[in-house]
Amino acid sequence: MEWTMAPSGMAEAAGGVISALLAHGHEAYFVGGCIRDELLGRPVHDIDLTTSALPGEVMDIFPRCVPTGLAHGTITVLQNGWSFEVTTYRTESAYTDHRRPGHVLFVSDVKEDLRRRDFTINAMCCGPDGILVDPFGGEEDSRRRLVRCVGDAEERFDEDALRMLRCVRFASVLDFSIAKNTWRGLLRQRDKLAHIAVERVRAELDRIVLGPHPQRGLGLLARSGLLPRGKAPFPWTGSDMAAAAALTAGIGDLQDARLRWALLLHALKRSAGEADELLRAWTFPGATRSAVAGVLRVREAWSAALAQVPPGEPGGTEALRRRWIAAVLAHGQSAAEGWLTLLSALPQAAVPVAPDCGAPAVQRPDAPDLPMLRSWTAAMPLHKLAELAVTGKELADALEKRPGPWLGVLLQSLLLAVAAGELPNNNQLLLLEAKRMDRDEQ
Ligand code: ATP
Ligand code: MG
Repeated sequence: MEWTMAPSGMAEAAGGVISALLAHGHEAYFVGGCIRDELLGRPVHDIDLTTSALPGEVMDIFPRCVPTGLAHGTITVLQNGWSFEVTTYRTESAYTDHRRPGHVLFVSDVKEDLRRRDFTINAMCCGPDGILVDPFGGEEDSRRRLVRCVGDAEERFDEDALRMLRCVRFASVLDFSIAKNTWRGLLRQRDKLAHIAVERVRAELDRIVLGPHPQRGLGLLARSGLLPRGKAPFPWTGSDMAAAAALTAGIGDLQDARLRWALLLHALKRSAGEADELLRAWTFPGATRSAVAGVLRVREAWSAALAQVPPGEPGGTEALRRRWIAAVLAHGQSAAEGWLTLLSALPQAAVPVAPDCGAPAVQRPDAPDLPMLRSWTAAMPLHKLAELAVTGKELADALEKRPGPWLGVLLQSLLLAVAAGELPNNNQLLLLEAKRMDRDEQ
């Protein structure tokens, strides 16, 4: 087949690298993901090249390069402000730990290089003549929307167990099916996931969860039984995931990555504390962890509020409003808004999910609905202590008392009263109120 890379600055620069290699008497091709994505009409985010030139020869031709993976034959070449991984044709053998090849052997036939690649759709290359080199039927598989291992699936997953998750990731992101033999090989080798570093598992999961068809990947993960066999605790047995499926139907509509994880952990019935621990075990950065846990903490605060204010109680709505505002103050506006967005992605009938982490809110006839919770948040005149028109020092001076734990409690009461619209945010009035509260206490 004739094939051309859509013109772009990046494609042009990569073409320049290929031309230079050809001019020196070597072979060189565009390879892997860029061919796959181009064939599928998807945006190409990076271009990898494969060449018969040995790493030293590549380095001699391109003075601006970095030997990023010399042992595996990879040199990163800088060209017109772009960078390209240029890898010498190679085969791999003697995989250690079901992940890394023990050694690589540079070879002269590009087809040998394509044979070591994981899936047929990733095992195509193409030169500037536009002729596709596709010995394993990758083009046909892209047309049939199939992820299929190059060669014997069981062997390929045994060599490198990460490929099993890559398989699910490609099926999920591209919305492809998995070829029968490939799926069978995956099921037979799934225990080997225990050999893969948690970071790598997480990186693949992240791409599944944040991709355009997360439901597809989650379904495949559930059916594969892969994750419970991983190194870290992944509470995703088939039945956990089946139960979660109804709740995560709206996951693809959430734009914010952290909310997708929050929804998933909510659907897996994790408390905020458990979610925090799991995210830590999965090696998520602290910022993601605390954002996700924060959203689930708002959920817990709101569940508790609904449990404490019985339905139909006189003044119940006002009591709930105060509790909602307290939750926003305690966990932050963005966590609170995150929880509201998440609620809107949950199917109404599916709540509550569990006594301790559900949100019976939506089902209680008298419970505030989402627009009401949103309007309560929007009406808050302030969101944090730093915005309060009085400082701890001013309060301690006015009350002629030494600072102590009482001061924090007082500041929080004033903050809540102002946030709930019961007091204006005015220095003099807040000091007066503080004195009144202090008198009442004595
Ligand atoms: P994307 O960049 O969108 O993840 P990609 O196909 O470019 O997709 P990379 O991880 O960048 O994926 O790898 C580049 C190429 O290297 C792949 O297309 C594939 O041919 C090969 N490859 C990558 N990882 C493996 C692996 N674990 N086993 C075999 N081949 C692999
Ligand atoms: Mg890539």
